Amino acid sequence: MPNKSNDKQRCSFCGRNVSEVKMLISGLNSCICDDCVRSAMEVIEAESLSRHIKGSGRFNTDFKNVPKPKEIKAFLDEYVIGQDDAKKTLAVAVYNHYKRLSQKDSADVDVEIEKSNIIMVGSTGTGKTLLARTISRLIKVPFTIVDATVFTEAGYVGEDIESILTRLLQAADYDQKAAECGIVFIDEIDKIARKGDNPSITRDVSGEGVQQGLLKLLEGSVVNVPPKGGRKHPDQDYIHLDTKNILFICGGAFDGIERKIAQRLNTHVVGYNSVQNTMKIDKDNLMRYILPQDLKSFGLIPEIIGRLPILTYLNPLDREALRRILTEPKNSIIRQYQKMMDMDGVKMDIDAEALEYIVDKAMEYKLGARGLRSIVEGILRDVLYEIPSSGKQHFRLTAKYAREHFDINLSLQMTGAA
Ligand code: ADP
Repeated sequence: MPNKSNDKQRCSFCGRNVSEVKMLISGLNSCICDDCVRSAMEVIEAESLSRHIKGSGRFNTDFKNVPKPKEIKAFLDEYVIGQDDAKKTLAVAVYNHYKRLSQKDSADVDVEIEKSNIIMVGSTGTGKTLLARTISRLIKVPFTIVDATVFTEAGYVGEDIESILTRLLQAADYDQKAAECGIVFIDEIDKIARKGDNPSITRDVSGEGVQQGLLKLLEGSVVNVPPKGGRKHPDQDYIHLDTKNILFICGGAFDGIERKIAQRLNTHVVGYNSVQNTMKIDKDNLMRYILPQDLKSFGLIPEIIGRLPILTYLNPLDREALRRILTEPKNSIIRQYQKMMDMDGVKMDIDAEALEYIVDKAMEYKLGARGLRSIVEGILRDVLYEIPSSGKQHFRLTAKYAREHFDINLSLQMTGAA
């Protein structure tokens, strides 16, 4: 309660008399002036921000008990269908990365383990982002996805590349220590490749400029990050973020890279005249033979390739994989819709033929796994609209229902998209 009546009262903090301050607030046995209230507020804000920066505890920053590669793979299996090679490579890479971070704390660092960022090659919608995101959830580190193409538009580097780290910081809820151990997924890395293998006239300068900018982050440096849109810090505009422990996972479709792989394999085989090798090559899945030199032929600069030493690939999703994606992952699309209906007290059953129909449509329109959700959403739209107020407790999705509602809600849309 403000109290200006008693002249004898003084602020218990700064000692000034009531006549010397604008307002004096009295408590049980003491008083505080408006100036001291304001100063106290500043102390509280600075303290809570510094606690944020030091670590909020929401994320892992001590990696002594990182799951073993087999445990990581088993966790990935719950959410991602197939892609065994990529899962194993990632599991080992991530395990080693965080083991390296735990080694940092011990005195015994005679052998310093270098950071190994990762690059995943595979068509769009095959699970690259899903893998990276799932791993970050398991390890409990901040995770952000950025699209490499936005940097191409901006041309040469500068603030833009740093904005990757702003996003990571935001994902870390401004917990700097957590952000410095986070995972950044850089999507569409292939889109910043130099056009053509010839570095002279055909050089795509802006693409290469972006690659150079990325290098700085990948290899580890202290970067001034503007905490844009975030909490205000009383005495610092930039946060100095060290990227040396941030794990960068890059992904790209690298359309046409199979041709480069085939060329290399052919020259290799012819060069060594080895008929046996030709026999063993799985021509339907050339991606599995990918090597760093193919990325170079595609137009990534050698320095970037050097900073992404772990290379893995994802298989295209076949019919069977799409069918499994619909129902098997822990948070599969079908389970999500079942859960949603369940919250309205409705039990949804789905006929096997209805699932087959959904997969048929995803294959027909070449939409891959990404299309599954929009197909299911379109088919279920009317029931999702009506059932919450219908009082019904059961809904069965039959192939007939799926076909009819696909035709009503989606067929035109999809034809336009295809
Ligand atoms: P990419 O990064 O390779 O373009 P995403 O990981 O973003 O593809 O996949 C898009 C969506 O498709 C995911 O959110 C997921 O629902 C589904 N999906 C793709 N691949 C798989 C997979 N192998 N297992 C389970 N779901 C998948």
